[in-house]
Amino acid sequence: MTDLLLKNIRPMGRETADILIRDGKIARIGAGLDAPGVAVEDGGNALVIPGLVEAHTHLDKTTWGMPWYAGRKGGVLQDLIDNERNERVPLGLDVHRQSMRHAIALIANGTTHIRTHVDIDTDHGLSLLEGVLQTREALAGLIDIQIVAFPQSGLMVRPGTLDLLDAAMAAGADIVGGLDPSSMDRDPKGQLDAIFALAQKHDAPIDIHLHEPGELGAFTMELILERTQALGMQGRVGVSHAFHLAMVPPARIEALMERIAALDVSIYSTGHPSANVPSLKAMRAAGIRVGIGCDGIRDTWGPWGEPDMMHRARIVGMKNGFRRDEELELLLDTASGAGAASIGVAGHAVTVGAAADLTLLAGETLAHAVVLQEPRPLVIKGGAVVARAGNAVIEAP
Ligand SMILES: [Zn+2]
Repeated sequence: MTDLLLKNIRPMGRETADILIRDGKIARIGAGLDAPGVAVEDGGNALVIPGLVEAHTHLDKTTWGMPWYAGRKGGVLQDLIDNERNERVPLGLDVHRQSMRHAIALIANGTTHIRTHVDIDTDHGLSLLEGVLQTREALAGLIDIQIVAFPQSGLMVRPGTLDLLDAAMAAGADIVGGLDPSSMDRDPKGQLDAIFALAQKHDAPIDIHLHEPGELGAFTMELILERTQALGMQGRVGVSHAFHLAMVPPARIEALMERIAALDVSIYSTGHPSANVPSLKAMRAAGIRVGIGCDGIRDTWGPWGEPDMMHRARIVGMKNGFRRDEELELLLDTASGAGAASIGVAGHAVTVGAAADLTLLAGETLAHAVVLQEPRPLVIKGGAVVARAGNAVIEAP
């Protein structure tokens, strides 16, 4: 493991100090530290936060670095799903190469942990998963990658998909995924019973994409909460998007959030600019573990996005109408320390004893750093420098 003396930095925006890293962990924080024989990095008085956490993305989808894709379609969710499933192979979307590009760009921009969903469907089998598993192995030590086996094209409506999810979990996926059990499968009981049983079989967490609007989404959320409680899966269930938490009446939202917090279900938000998104402040105030993510980046669904959690934080901040410094600090925490907790990574902080997964940021204060569009001066993973001045130490294919 790695030793490093990081000098001249401001931990969490506080006064200038040094951080001594021993065996990949933060050993000391203080002024004027000395450690003979240990490599030194000068942080240039930059801010230091726990590494950024990408809590919801799709490493298997991006066209980043490929020729411009002009075939994007409009239409409803099903059209986007079908277009992607049909276009992947003709487009030459090599999942290992593309997920390497995507993950390395995230490293360059200060991310130390990724939770990615990977499509599992009856057309592609486990081939997309295999590409992302290769990437996880190639980037071991540079970034941590959690993989969700994600039934993007539906579960109950596509017989054979459940067996593939089972095989994906056996092959190395970490988390059982789900998707709109009511609107996609029109069989919420069927899908939820199946994925909760699979999670129990593999002793794995669950992460469900829930785009369902209004009362339909609230109904599905209640079914998820019932199962979380009945099966004792508190702290191991996540719901992505949860648009309904911005669509049903305020008293209903409040009651749902209270129950989500009590059952320790995490919510992942992308601050989707063209959707209703749950209030970040309301969720955090309710005590819900919340993470944020970029979702798909320049994929067959849409041309937008950057592989950069600070870019995404600004989108989430604008969507939530944040103005005050404490709101921007809450946002940065949700993109780093609190975001890690939302994906089951405890103790992600700039404190003695924590893993030395650190991101340096330019800026006068934490709030200022959120709005600045500057390269990250330094990114450290397990005590090793993995990116410098916006460039990862490993080259993308
Ligand atoms: Zn997604």
